[in-house]
Amino acid sequence: MIAHAVSEPNRQAGGPSHRPAALIRKAAVLGAGTMGSRIAAHLANAGLPVVLLDIAPSAVAAQAIEALKKAKPAAFFDPSLAARLVPGNFEDDLALVADCDWVIEAVTENLAIKQSLLERVIPHLKPDAILTTNTSGIPIASIAAGMPAELRRRCFGTHFFNPPRYMRLLEVIATPETDPAAVEAVSAFADLRLGKEVVFARDTPNFIANRIGLFTMLEAVRLMQEEDLTIEDVDALTGTAIGWPRTGTFRLADLVGLDVMAHVASNFPEQLTMPPFIRTMLERRWLGDKTGQGFYRKEKDAAGKEVRLALDWKTLEYRPASKPNLPSLEMAKNAERLAERIRLLLQGDPRKDKAARFHWRLLSALWSYAADCLPEIADDAASVDRAMRAGFNWEMGPFELWDAAGVRQTIERMEAASPVAKRLIEAGGDAWYRTNGRECFDPVARAWRPIPMPVGVARVANFRASNGVLRGNAGASLVDLGDGVACLELHSKKNAIGEDIVRLASETLGADSDAVRNFAAFVIGGDADNFSVGANLMQLLLAAQEGDWDEVDRAVRGFQRMTAAIKFCPRPVVAAPFGLCLGGGVEMAIHAARRQAHAELYMGLVECGVGLLPAGGGSKEMTLRALDAAAQVREGPRNESVEVFDALRRAFETVAMAKTSTSAFEARRLGFLSDGDRVTMNRERLLNDAKALALGLAAAGYAPPAPRTDIPAPGENVLATLRTGVRMMREGEYISDHDVKVANRVAHVMCGGKLTPGTPVSEQYLLDLEREAFLSLAGEKKTQERIAYTLKTGKPLRN
Ligand code: NAD
Repeated sequence: MIAHAVSEPNRQAGGPSHRPAALIRKAAVLGAGTMGSRIAAHLANAGLPVVLLDIAPSAVAAQAIEALKKAKPAAFFDPSLAARLVPGNFEDDLALVADCDWVIEAVTENLAIKQSLLERVIPHLKPDAILTTNTSGIPIASIAAGMPAELRRRCFGTHFFNPPRYMRLLEVIATPETDPAAVEAVSAFADLRLGKEVVFARDTPNFIANRIGLFTMLEAVRLMQEEDLTIEDVDALTGTAIGWPRTGTFRLADLVGLDVMAHVASNFPEQLTMPPFIRTMLERRWLGDKTGQGFYRKEKDAAGKEVRLALDWKTLEYRPASKPNLPSLEMAKNAERLAERIRLLLQGDPRKDKAARFHWRLLSALWSYAADCLPEIADDAASVDRAMRAGFNWEMGPFELWDAAGVRQTIERMEAASPVAKRLIEAGGDAWYRTNGRECFDPVARAWRPIPMPVGVARVANFRASNGVLRGNAGASLVDLGDGVACLELHSKKNAIGEDIVRLASETLGADSDAVRNFAAFVIGGDADNFSVGANLMQLLLAAQEGDWDEVDRAVRGFQRMTAAIKFCPRPVVAAPFGLCLGGGVEMAIHAARRQAHAELYMGLVECGVGLLPAGGGSKEMTLRALDAAAQVREGPRNESVEVFDALRRAFETVAMAKTSTSAFEARRLGFLSDGDRVTMNRERLLNDAKALALGLAAAGYAPPAPRTDIPAPGENVLATLRTGVRMMREGEYISDHDVKVANRVAHVMCGGKLTPGTPVSEQYLLDLEREAFLSLAGEKKTQERIAYTLKTGKPLRN
C-alpha cells in the first residue's frame, strides 16, 4: 500500500499497524461537464457504481453519459460500462449521495458556486464519506472553510488531468486539517484501482504540474517573440527534441484551449502577463480546436486537400504551415537518448545559433523557476519530476533534465542562478539525484534523502540495476526479479520480435534450460511503451523479396518453437502485456500459462492487415480457445453444435478482420484474455502483479499442459460456411480480392482443412497448416506490397 502517503507523526495512534485503507465501494461526482463526466466514466472503468449529478433536469447528466459513450479518445473501457452510471440532478436527487463513500465535486471553477452547492450536499453525506474537489486553482482551504470541522477533516483536493482515463497524474492536496487516513484511502484507491500516479501537492495556486507547465509555455511564447521565431519553430523546439510531447507548445495550447490556459495563468501568484497578441486571440475567440482555430487552423485547398495553416503572430494572419529550418535540431536527432540530446542542443553557440539560444534561455529559466518553487509547492524535487512526467507527458521532469545537462556547468553559465539550486552545489553535490535515482536533494534539509517508493511499484530496470542481466542479446534479456522469478524482458526497437528474441525465449524457457532449473516461475514483459508491435517484418520482407523461402520457413518454425516453449515450459510463465501488443506479441502472450494485463491494452492479431496470417501458433491457439469455450457451453456431439460454429466464427472474425482491443476489458471479449487472467490498472505495478501471479501458480503446484493430439477439427462444414461469409463480404464490396484470399486461408487453418467434422487432429497438424498458409501468402505480390507500405507509413494498405 502507499503508506508513505501519510507522514508518520500524523498517523493516528491506537489501531493495528497495518490497518487497510478505508473502503470505497460507491462514488458520486457532482458536475457532469468535461471533467466530471469523464472522471465518473473512469470510476466505472474501475468497477464502481457512480452517481453523476448536474443541474436540473436530470437529462443534463443523462446526455453527458450518452456523449461519454462516443467520446474520443474513449472514456469507457467499453461502452457497456455506462450502465454503472446513475444520472440525477442537484434539485431532486441529492439523497442519492447518501451511500457514497467518495464524493467528488467537479462543477464550474467558481468559489461561490462550489460553496453553495456543497452546502446543500453536505446534509446528505454519510458520516464517514470523503469529499474532494477537482478545482484546478481555487485554494482547497477556502472551499472547505465554511464546512463543519468534522467534515473539513475528510475534505481535500483531487486534481485530475484531462482526459482522466489517460492522463496518469492525480495531484492530491491536503490542508493542515485533513485526516491522513482519508488521504490514504483516496490515494490508495487512485493508485491501485484508477491506475493514477499520485503526487502530493501543497495547497498553492495551480498546484505543481500546471504551475510549472504553464510557466514554461508562457516563457516559450516570450522567447519566441524575443528571438523572432515562428509558431512552428517553437513547436519543433519544444517537442520530442527535448522529450516533451510532439504537440510542442502551440498544438498543445490549441488542444487544451486558450481560455483554459488564460484561466490558469490568472491564478499565478506572480504576475504572468499574456502577450498582447494572445489577448487579441482571446477576444476574437480563437481558442484552439474547440472554436476551429487558434495557433493553427485547418483549411481545404483548391483541390479539396486539407492543409494546415499556422498563425503569424506578428500580423495575426494565417499562412501555410512551414517546416522549420533549424540545423541544430536536425543534428540532435542523431542522439537517441534524451540525456545526450539535451547536452548536444545546449552545446550550440548561442551567438550564432537561434535554436541553441532559445533552448538555453527556456531550460535555464525552467530550472531556476522549478527550484525556486520547490519548497513551496512540493515535498521534494522528485514529486515535481513525477508530476511533469505523468501530467504533461514529459520524458524527464525538470530536475532530471537538469541532471542530464549537468547542474554544476549550467549553474556556472547562468547569470542569476536560483539560490535554492546553489544550495546543492554548496552541499558538495553535482546532481539532484544520486544512488541510481534512489535519493534526491532536499534543499530545505540541504541533504540527499531517500525517495519513498510505494511497495509493489517496480520496473525491470530497477532489478537490472541491482541484479544484473543473467543472459541477453540486443532484443531481450533475462533478469532476476528475486523470490525465484525471472523476467524475460523485451527491449528491441518497438519491441519488434526478431531472431534474437526468438532465440533467447526458446533457450530460456525450453524444458532443459538452466533457467528453468534455477527459477520457479517466469514473467514476460518490459519497461517500454509497448509490449510488442509483433514479428520483425523487415527481416521477413527482405527474405521474401529475395525468394529465400528456406529462410522464411526456418523463421516461422523458430517462432512456433518459441511459443511452444512458452506454453509447455515446466515452470509457469506469465505474460504481462501492455500498450500495443500486436501479431507475434499476441502469440507470445496467449501461449503463456496466464496473462497479467495492463488495463490500457491494444491487443490484436493484425497479420491479415499485411496480407499474412498468425503462424507462430496464433491461429492454432485461437482455434483451441474457441473449441474449448464451445465445449464448456454444451457437452455432447460438439463439432456440429451451434456453439462450435458460433465460437469459431467469432475467433475467425477476430483474426481475419485483425480486430484490436482498445482496453484489456475488450481484449477479454475478443478472446485474448481468459478467465484466470488478471488486469492491473497502474502500469507501474504491472511487473510486480505479474510476478505475484506467477509465484502463486508455482506455489499451487503448477503443471504445464500436454501437447494436444485430440482436437476435434471443425472441418469442411464450418469451413464452407465461413467461406460463404467471406464471399458475401466481397460481394458487398467490404473487402478486396486479396482480403478474400487471406481470409480463406485463415478459415482453412482454423477448420483444420477439409476434414470430416470431428476428425481428431494434433496441435502440430494445425501448426503445419499455419506455416504452409503463411509461406504461400508471403509469396504473394500484394502481401509484399502491404508489408512494404506498413513498414514505411505505419498504416495498413488496402489493395
Ligand atoms: P465544465 O464547464 O465542462 O463543467 C462544469 C459543470 O458545472 C457543468 O456540467 C455545469 O452544468 C455545472 N454547473 C455550472 N454552473 C453551476 C451551478 N451554478 N451549480 C451547479 N453546477 C453548475 O467544466 P470542467 O472543465 O469540467 O471543470 C470542472 C472543474 O474541474 C473546475 O473546477 C475546473 O477548474 C476543474 N478542472 C478542469 C480541467 C479541464 O481540463 N477542463 C482539468 C482539471 C480540473
